[in-house]
Order: sequence, then structure tokens, then C-alpha cells
Amino acid sequence: MLKEDNPFLKAWRKGLKSVALVYPNRYVGGISNIGLQYIYAEINSREDFVCERFYLDVFNGLRSVESGRSLKDFDIAFFSLQYEEDYFKAVRILKKSGFKGLKVAGGPCCMLNPKPILRFFDAFVIGEVENSRVIDYILEAKSKEDLAGIEGIYTGLEDRVRRIKPKKLDFHLKQQIIGEGAYGRCVLLEVGRGCVRHCRFCVVRQIYSPPRWRDVKLLLEVAEAYKGVVNKIALIAPSVSDHPKIKELIAGLVEMGFMVSPSSIRADTVDDELMELLVAGGLKSFTIAPEAGSERLREILKKGISEEDVLNAAKIAREKGIMSVKLYFMIGLPTETEEDIHEMIELVRKVREIIPKVSVSINPLVPKPHTPFQWLPYTGFKNVREGMIELNRRSKLIRKELSKMAEVSIEKVDSFALQTILSRGEEDVADLIDMGRATLKAAEKLGLLKYLEEIPVDRVLPWDFIDHGYKKERLIKEFEAIM
Ligand code: SF4
Repeated sequence: MLKEDNPFLKAWRKGLKSVALVYPNRYVGGISNIGLQYIYAEINSREDFVCERFYLDVFNGLRSVESGRSLKDFDIAFFSLQYEEDYFKAVRILKKSGFKGLKVAGGPCCMLNPKPILRFFDAFVIGEVENSRVIDYILEAKSKEDLAGIEGIYTGLEDRVRRIKPKKLDFHLKQQIIGEGAYGRCVLLEVGRGCVRHCRFCVVRQIYSPPRWRDVKLLLEVAEAYKGVVNKIALIAPSVSDHPKIKELIAGLVEMGFMVSPSSIRADTVDDELMELLVAGGLKSFTIAPEAGSERLREILKKGISEEDVLNAAKIAREKGIMSVKLYFMIGLPTETEEDIHEMIELVRKVREIIPKVSVSINPLVPKPHTPFQWLPYTGFKNVREGMIELNRRSKLIRKELSKMAEVSIEKVDSFALQTILSRGEEDVADLIDMGRATLKAAEKLGLLKYLEEIPVDRVLPWDFIDHGYKKERLIKEFEAIM
């Protein structure tokens, strides 16, 4: 039984139109997603509608949390697609449930490239729905055709779709469901969207532009209402510590008696004062994402974090009593050599000399749509097969060296290849999703390994039809600068 505060328990009556909000992954992730909480509250605030939630690990995603009703009994299903791997689970839920109503999907995957899942849904939301009429249109629609041509919606019938977004974040969700989520039992405070940085591998800068921050006064007001209800606040944003008044915000929350959990802190924003505030807010372990081991590769990534920043943040953290740190790196970066891998190992060793407990998480790079890396071959090697063999060898080397001094987790080269196919593919990727076989072997049989190859810059890309407001020439320039 889920222990939740504040769910809407709306009585069903005749004539009520029903919306299923489906998160095809675990409850802990779904309940920590403030965008979903917004849609849920928005639909339930309307008299003639009821919205109930579905999670993969609650009734296998086939019955709702609130009333236990079957998905097939709902009029509209709204799926949130946060990760490409969830495509398989989403389609399995759709098939098993026998759902026949209007199928809509939203989330970052749809904003990047909905083509691989176009076959399974009637419409996709491209953008952020607040302050738009997109939810109204979806609730009124009976078919895909009813939604065709509407701003911020892609049905497969449009040649071009412009992303929608609120200009200012001068609002915040007030009534939240409090459940046991990724940050524990807490209130979510979304401090901002987008990012002021320019990391070349990252989709945030592209699909959530421009960077927008919420006012500290508004955020503190939202938190104030939860005094005595929860003791923890999670701060949500792609780069929380870039908020221009982050210290004032954390100080205000700590003063109200809250523990504060930030979703991310950039190493180069850490100073004594910020770390003291974070420790006062209950921070026990600290996360740094250098992404690459060598200065040279970090420059290619445009990460803007130096080795000095990383070591300085570690020193400050240690001085303020933090005993454990987590480091994030990627492998398979363009122009990466074994020397860069040795520099990564060396950097971890230096951090380990400062902080007693170090854990390291390593992912192969997925060259994501809409970023300057979108044309890269997976693994960074022109010959992708050889690149995958080499990345596996590098993973082994890293594990051997790092496990002497840190806890290491390295994601599989094959799984991230599959993620690349799901991310950069065309409509034919739907055959793989339809089979429900999330393996590279199955992708190979269907001839989908082509999506791992380098893409010529003059080719029309499956996701070019989405207008995120950037100029493709800029991406080409940045791509050519790294090669
Ligand atoms: S700082 Fe983080 S969120 Fe911002 S562009 Fe870089 S990786 Fe993306």
C-alpha cells in the first residue's frame, strides 16, 4: 500500500471524462516528477474530468493507484516518456491493457525525437504545457485528427512543430502529492528550467531554452505551506546551484527548519558559504560531474569545469564534514584516447586522497538529437563495431584500476548502443519496440545498427521538423570545431 499525502480521490460519476496518467517506470521516479504532478493537479481541478495515476511497479501499470480501475476503462491515456528504454514498457502496457482510447505522450524523449514511437501514439506534446491551451485541446479531442496542426502538438501529420514553453516561471504547483520518491518523502521545489551553460553533449540547453529561474520569494511561499507536513525539500533544476540566489533560497529553507536536497550542484559554484548551507540543510554526500577525466576532453565537451574546480569542491566538502562523494564520467567521447582514460583514473585518485569514500558512475556517451554531438558515431569511433570492442576494453581497464580505490558502476556498452538507436532512429525502430525485445541482437536483425553510425551533416535528420528555436548552422559549427 502506498503511503501518500494529498492524492485527489475524486468520486467517479456518469459523464466524467477520465484521463490515465501513465509513468512506465518505477513509482519513486514518477512521484518525483513535478511536471506530472502539475498535469495531474491541473486535470483534477476541472469539474468534468478525473485523472488517475499508473506506475509500472503498481499493478504492473495496468490499474490505477487511486481507484484500482483498469487502464482500458479510461478515455485518454497520457504517457510520460522520460527515458528511451521506457518505450518497451509503455508499449507493453498499452498492449496488455487493451486500451482503445486516445493515446498521448509527452516528456523529453518526445521533444527530442518521437519518430521511433510514432506508430504507438496519436499525439505527442512538444514542450512545456503550462500557460498554454494544450491540455484543453487534448481533453476535448476524440482522435488524432482533432489534434493535428495545434501548436506544441505532433501527430505525424505536421511538417514542422514549434516547441511551446511559458516565457516566465511566475507560478509554481502548490498542492503536491507527497510520496516516497527519489529524494525521499519531500516537497519538490522546481527552482528553474533550462541551463545557462553550454555543454555540447547535453539536451537541456537545447530543448529547455531559454534558461528561466523562479523567484526566491515564490519558492519560499510554496515551501512555507508545507511546514509541519514534511521536513525535507528537494530543489529541482538541471543545474540548481546556477540559480542567481541559491544561497538566499537554501538559507531561507534551512531557517524554516527544512532539510534541503539539491538535484545537482556544479563543482565550480561551490564555495565555503554554499557548502556550509548545504551541510546545514542535511547534505551528507556530494555529487560532482566532471564528465571527462582530461582537461582536453572537458574542453571538447564545453563542460567548463577544471580539475582545480573538482579538487577545490572536494576539499571544501571535506572541510565541512562531507565524507563521501560521487563522481560522474562518460566514455566514448569524440577523440578520446587511452591517455584520457588514465587521466580519469588519476583524477579519481586525487579526489580519493581528499574524501574517504568515493563512488564513480560511468556511462558511454549517447549522441543525442538536437545537440552538436548528434552526428557523431556511437563510441566516437568511425568504425562503430571496433569502437564498441574498444569501449568494452576501456571499461575493463577502468574497473580494474578504480575498484582499488572507489565503488565503481559502469553502464554496458550494448545497452547504451540500444539507447542511441532508440534516440536517433526513424519510424522503423518501432518494429523493435513492437517485438518487445530490448537487445542489440534483435536491433541488428532488423537492420537498425545503421543508427549507430556517423551521420553526414548534410542529411535531413528525423527530428529536424521540431523547432526548438536554435539555428542548425550553430550546431554544425560546434560539431566541426571538435572533429
Ligand atoms: S551544466 Fe548540466 S544541465 Fe547545464 S548544459 Fe551542462 S550538463 Fe547540461
